[in-house]
Amino acid sequence: MTEEELLHAETFRDRVSSVSAAGKRNWIYAFKPSGKFYRYRNIVSYIYLIVFFAMPFIRINGNPFFLINVIDSKFILFGKIFWPQDFFIFAVGMISFIVFIVLFTVIYGRLFCGWTCPQTVFLEFVFRKIEWWIEGSASRQKTLHDGPWTMEKIWKKGIKHTLFLIVSFLIAHTFLAYIIGVHEVTKIIGEPLSQHIALLAGLIVFTLLFYGVFAFVREIVCTTICPYGRLQGVMFDKDTMQISYDYKRGEERGKYKRNEPRTNGDCIDCKKCVVVCPTGIDIRDGVQMDCVGCTACIDACDEVMDKVGFPKGLIRYASENQITNGTPFQFNTKMKAYTVLLFVLLSAMTVMIITRKTVDTYISRVSGQLFQEMEGDKISNLFDAKIINKTNKDFAVELRIEDLQGEIKLVGAQEFMLKKEAINEFTFFLELPKTEIHNRSNKISIGVYHDGKKIQTLKTKFLGPFM
Ligand code: SF4
Ligand code: SF4
Repeated sequence: MTEEELLHAETFRDRVSSVSAAGKRNWIYAFKPSGKFYRYRNIVSYIYLIVFFAMPFIRINGNPFFLINVIDSKFILFGKIFWPQDFFIFAVGMISFIVFIVLFTVIYGRLFCGWTCPQTVFLEFVFRKIEWWIEGSASRQKTLHDGPWTMEKIWKKGIKHTLFLIVSFLIAHTFLAYIIGVHEVTKIIGEPLSQHIALLAGLIVFTLLFYGVFAFVREIVCTTICPYGRLQGVMFDKDTMQISYDYKRGEERGKYKRNEPRTNGDCIDCKKCVVVCPTGIDIRDGVQMDCVGCTACIDACDEVMDKVGFPKGLIRYASENQITNGTPFQFNTKMKAYTVLLFVLLSAMTVMIITRKTVDTYISRVSGQLFQEMEGDKISNLFDAKIINKTNKDFAVELRIEDLQGEIKLVGAQEFMLKKEAINEFTFFLELPKTEIHNRSNKISIGVYHDGKKIQTLKTKFLGPFM
């Protein structure tokens, strides 16, 4: 390669494929892929979309399967309600998730981006399919876009953008169902809009946001906005599996001439792998952050290899070491360390979920109150109790003083009746005979019982007179 060719070959590092030399948006008209990987990704995306739209309707023991109600600080996972008090489980869950993502990325590169990221699934398997269906192939789309505003252009663009808005509206509703629950969404739909102006405004904002992302911003989300995408460079190493061009086999590239002995490498420079790329890059330039691992170039190249009679896999899943040295996949020290950390975090999270209490009780002496002298040589302290019932059933609990003679007298209620999915508040007197009080501040244990079984032990202090 001459010095000039070498410089030219490296220019891909200085530019973003979605921005032209003049600084304008370079619209990417990606050709529709076809092939083994595209078929598999179709199946994955259909399952994904079914799960995404159906999940808000799935209920376990009357609770949604999954709900993130940030408005009321109520979170439901696998039908189990989590409260802000369970936040540490979420924190461990989030850390485990991040470690999982890092570990996964170190080993498998951007497999998540190409196969299961919502941005890719919705863009490639919903919005782009609508576009291909209405406006035709990538070259037809470009011709239509560059041409004058004819009736055909007006109605095609009109229908496409109307459908984009409808799908965005549906996604926004589903998104809302993940926040407030599908029952609440259907209830709101049946009520006058004037009663839900804030929610309506939120729905409009999210609909326009999704529409803007999928109709206009598109691959820029993956190449520029998404923090996960930007971090790839830190997580990849030479053993990371990624979509790679086998330059050893492909170079020096050269046009294919039938019935002539081939003196070049296997790449026939047809650029099919480039025109099919949704981020507009040339994978033959090497590993790039803009590659979302969508496999479209593998399918395109395999089809070409098939046609010219060369073996498939000129572009394939492979690590840099595999391509350069022909070494097999290695589970290196970094991968092992991440796996151990992930295992520890997942175990901790499993233990926390299994041992998580369904009733959480907090008691404290009423502020400003010391103690009261009662008839019968007794002393009482006034307490506040907050009892969180995390289940979806109402039930009563009993509070008993442990190890001491004494009584708990509820104020304004007959029993500690807990409403489902609620923080229940009570006030009660704790009475002890003076013979049980030996100090100014006395340690005391209170047991919380349900159906005769102790579910929690509380430690508190009981104030007595100066001795
Ligand atoms: S280089 Fe290949 S795998 Fe990467 S985004 Fe482009 S088409 Fe997809
Ligand atoms: S599709 Fe395959 S043969 Fe064609 S340019 Fe890309 S790498 Fe070369």
